[in-house]
Amino acid sequence: MFENSIITLNEIALKNNVTFLQKKLGKKVRISAVVKANAYGHGIEEIVPLFEKYGVNHYSVFYYTEALLVEKSLSNTATIMIMGWIGNSDIINAVAKGFEFYVFDLERLTLAIETAKKLNIKAYVHLEAETGMNRSGLNANEIEQAVSMIIENSEHVHLSGFCTHLAGAESVSNHLRIQNQLKKYQKLLTILERNNIKPDYKHVANSAAAFVYPKYRMDLVRIGIMLYGFWSSTEVFIKYINNKQNKVDPLKSILGWHSQIMAIKLVKSGEFIGYGEYLI
Ligand SMILES: *Cc1c(COP(=O)(O)O)cnc(C)c1O
Repeated sequence: MFENSIITLNEIALKNNVTFLQKKLGKKVRISAVVKANAYGHGIEEIVPLFEKYGVNHYSVFYYTEALLVEKSLSNTATIMIMGWIGNSDIINAVAKGFEFYVFDLERLTLAIETAKKLNIKAYVHLEAETGMNRSGLNANEIEQAVSMIIENSEHVHLSGFCTHLAGAESVSNHLRIQNQLKKYQKLLTILERNNIKPDYKHVANSAAAFVYPKYRMDLVRIGIMLYGFWSSTEVFIKYINNKQNKVDPLKSILGWHSQIMAIKLVKSGEFIGYGEYLI
């Protein structure tokens, strides 16, 4: 078929971004590539094998069917983490497949444990803490309950993570709000510590937070936009580049859009072009 307009992915740019992030974040911080929303429009099936080729082995998605697509696109095993929606009927599949997922209500935790018991395996969960974004997350009381459920059912549930989402780290106008969220997160974490349970990964940062608040990279960062070659905001970019000698943007955009030229015309100045009122 004749394609007169195509989207391309630039592997060299992708490698550049992954390598830059791996180097900046260091070996102690695991990178989870956020590939929700069809890998930010780049295509899950196309992008995951490339991320995999350059060493990414942790993927974050929003919902269950995206997790299936990631799994299908991988050649080797990797961790797949669902941050958002899993219909109750898919919990059984998610647990059976060993997908990790966020728990932000006790009903999901109960279902996960029941399912894991039936299958005689473990469910891998990340407790999401409510720290002030008020979107999804467990409050202190619910975390207490979740923790006792995890302790009681330790054979069938594993605490892979303790996490939260920071509201708008890409803008300094949210600084105070984010500081409060981080304080709240640390406070809620003490519930786990008091009960002697330790998550594999503590994680709060997306791209912006990983660069604006490097102290809070913790064990894992969930990086979306920067992997695709964009800074979260001009503010974040300026903050990064300000104290660098070399003012060249280290990120490269992966997505390209190429079209065939169908016709070229010479037009006299003052003539109309196509529809509308635009004069050249
Ligand atoms: C989308 C998302 C991210 C990634 O954010 P970027 O700004 O693209 O790095 C991280 N965490 C959660 C919970 C998200 O929904």
